[in-house]
Amino acid sequence: MENVTVNFIENKDKKTKPDADKIAFGKHYSDHMFVMDFQADKGWYDPRIVPYEPITLDPAAMIFHYGQTVFEGLKAYRTPSDRILLFRPEKNFRRLNLSSDRLSIPAIDEDLALSYLKQLLEVEKEWVPKAEGNSLYIRPFIIATEPNLSLAPSKTYQFMIILSPVGSYYKEGIQPVRIHVEDEYTRAVRGGTGTAKTAGNYAAAYKAQERATKEGYSQVLWLDGVEKKYIEEVGSMNVFFKVNGEIITPELNGSILEGITRMSIIEVLKDWGVPVTERKLSLEELYEAHEQGQLEEAFGTGTAAVISPVGELYWGEKKIKINNGEIGDLSKRLYDTLTGIQTGKIEDTYHWTIELNS
Ligand SMILES: *Cc1c(COP(=O)(O)O)cnc(C)c1O
Repeated sequence: MENVTVNFIENKDKKTKPDADKIAFGKHYSDHMFVMDFQADKGWYDPRIVPYEPITLDPAAMIFHYGQTVFEGLKAYRTPSDRILLFRPEKNFRRLNLSSDRLSIPAIDEDLALSYLKQLLEVEKEWVPKAEGNSLYIRPFIIATEPNLSLAPSKTYQFMIILSPVGSYYKEGIQPVRIHVEDEYTRAVRGGTGTAKTAGNYAAAYKAQERATKEGYSQVLWLDGVEKKYIEEVGSMNVFFKVNGEIITPELNGSILEGITRMSIIEVLKDWGVPVTERKLSLEELYEAHEQGQLEEAFGTGTAAVISPVGELYWGEKKIKINNGEIGDLSKRLYDTLTGIQTGKIEDTYHWTIELNS
C-alpha cells in the first residue's frame, strides 16, 4: 500500500534564515515539511513534501482530546568539509514505531520513513547550519486526526516531519547543571507510557520543572514512581554516574525512555574498556557513595545536549556537589567523542552516521 514516490510542491516564498548566533531553540522552521496520511482501508498514503504552513484540523480531532500522538527528535549535522550527516536515524524510526505501538497508532515503514526524511533534507539542505556547534533539529511526529470523541483509537492519522535550525547547546562552554530531586511528582511508572515519546509525559513533567526552576535548579531528577527510591532520568535525559571508577546507569525498567545517546555511550564505554553497569541505583546508595568520596561524575544524555554534566544535586535538605561542580574527564571525553562522530570531525569507527546523498 505504501508509496515511495514523494510528491513535491515547492515553496516559492522562501524565508530568510536566522543569524547563526541568534538561533533560539524551536523558534525557526524551514521552508518545507513532509506529510503523509493514514486511513484504515488505504494504510499510509500520499507521502508529500509541501510548503511549511499551518494545518487545519477538526476541533474534534482525537489528538486534542485524548493525546494519541508520538514524536521523535534527531539532528542533521554539517561537517567541516560540507557533508551532511545523520546520527543513527534508523534507531529513531524504530523507536517511533515502538512508541506508536504503545499508543495504538499504526506502524510506518521504517526504511521508507528514512528515505522520506532524506528527500526532505535534500530539498532543505541549505537549512543545515554551517556555524560550529549548530545543527538542524528534525522532529518527526504522528497525530490522531479522526473527528470523534469516542474512547477508541483514531481511524485516521497524519505523519509529519518538520525541521528547525538550532544553535549550539553550549554557547558559553559546557556548564554543569544543578539538579533538584523530585520526590512528589512522578514522570512515569512501569506499565505506563514512560518508554514512549508521547506528549502527555512531557506536559505531566512541567509541574515538577516549575518548582525546580523556582528554587534555582535547572532540571529535575526523576525517581521511580513505585517506591520513590530508585533513580530513573534527569529532565528528559537518561542519566549516568561514575562511582569509584565504574559507570552506572539505571536499567531499562519499563518506565525509562531508551535514549539513542544512552545506547551509544554504553557501547563507547564498553569499547574503551570502562566498566559500565545497567542496574537499579537508589538515591540513598548514591548519597552514600558521595559521602565516601566515591561519586566521581554524573551526567545526563540526550540528542539536544549529548552530555549534560550534573554539578549539584539537591534532595530534601541535602545538597551535594559533584566533581567540584565541574565537568569530569570521562564526561568530557565522551562528549568530544560523540560530537566528533556526529559532525564528522573524528572517524566513525562504529558506522553510526549516514551521509545524505549516499
Ligand atoms: C528523548 C528522550 C531521551 C533521550 O533520548 P535520545 O535518543 O538520546 O535523544 C531520554 N529521556 C526522555 C524522557 C526522552 O524523551
